[in-house]
Amino acid sequence: MSSRLHPDIERAYCVLDTGEPVSLELASALGRLPESEVLDLVSLANKVKNRYAPGEGGGVHACSIMNTKSGVCGENCRFCAQSKHNSAEVEVYGLVDEMKVLEQARMLHEQGIERFGIVTSGYGYRKVTPEFERILGMIDLLHCELPELQVCASLGVLGEVPAAELAHHGIAYYNINIQVDPDRYGELIADTHSVDERIETIRRLRSHGIAVCCGGIIGTGETLQERIGMIFALQKLDVTVIPLNVLVPIDGTPLEGAAPVSVPEIAKTFAICRLAHPSKIIKFAAGRETVMKDFQGLLMQAGANGFLTGGYLTTRGRDMEADRQLAGQIARFS
Ligand code: SF4
Repeated sequence: MSSRLHPDIERAYCVLDTGEPVSLELASALGRLPESEVLDLVSLANKVKNRYAPGEGGGVHACSIMNTKSGVCGENCRFCAQSKHNSAEVEVYGLVDEMKVLEQARMLHEQGIERFGIVTSGYGYRKVTPEFERILGMIDLLHCELPELQVCASLGVLGEVPAAELAHHGIAYYNINIQVDPDRYGELIADTHSVDERIETIRRLRSHGIAVCCGGIIGTGETLQERIGMIFALQKLDVTVIPLNVLVPIDGTPLEGAAPVSVPEIAKTFAICRLAHPSKIIKFAAGRETVMKDFQGLLMQAGANGFLTGGYLTTRGRDMEADRQLAGQIARFS
């Protein structure tokens, strides 16, 4: 190891040697590194990723989602176009027909996608409603017609019985994000529901053996130290996949004019997340193309070993063929 490394990065090489996560103290010190040191930190995060969390076939974990119910959500998430508290323009439709979901899943699966997420707008399902039963029917249909496809769901807060039903119907992962440091959720994200309800949902899902995909969003006005707080909160939640989103400011939402976070700071966040979660799947989700543009490859070398491809909920994604090529190039660095 070069003695020219910053002393805090040198200290962080213990993660590469042991596979044990960095302490909160060291993560905070890494958060204070000057921008000129970020590439050395990225290099370490990439080495840790390659040793402890190589993606599928040495490449990346890719998944795709479908917004199966859009808009008119009663919650007031500040980043979201689908909240009826916001005035963003968004498509509005109720739960789509299961054949439409099958058609989309089949198209994605034929293009090589192995994980497909059913996403709905709204608070969630405390009880099994007729709408929730329709979603269970979609899951069954996908299992029957596309048996090799892993089916995931992102349906908001869940009560005990809906969580048990999802386990019974065999979903691969359930996505529910804490978004920011839990202490700041009410201020930075929403106050029509609490982060505790989301954390309770995660515990409930885990008690039923469902693997959880839970992460956050960069750029809501949080400080880097608060972002590190979010990363460490995830350590206590036994999550399997950590999606990191970079805010795409949408007109008509309270965050439409949010100041962009610099590329080095985002790279630093990804790298610290990898050092705090050496063996987890860390996915680069929204903002990859629209915000990071030419730098998305850098973030895939900063500890991420997966991405969401083929479009997001209310913003467009990137051409899947371009993503396939990106995944191939990333594998060459592994
Ligand atoms: S993120 Fe989900 S819960 Fe929040 S406003 Fe958007 S659709 Fe509603």
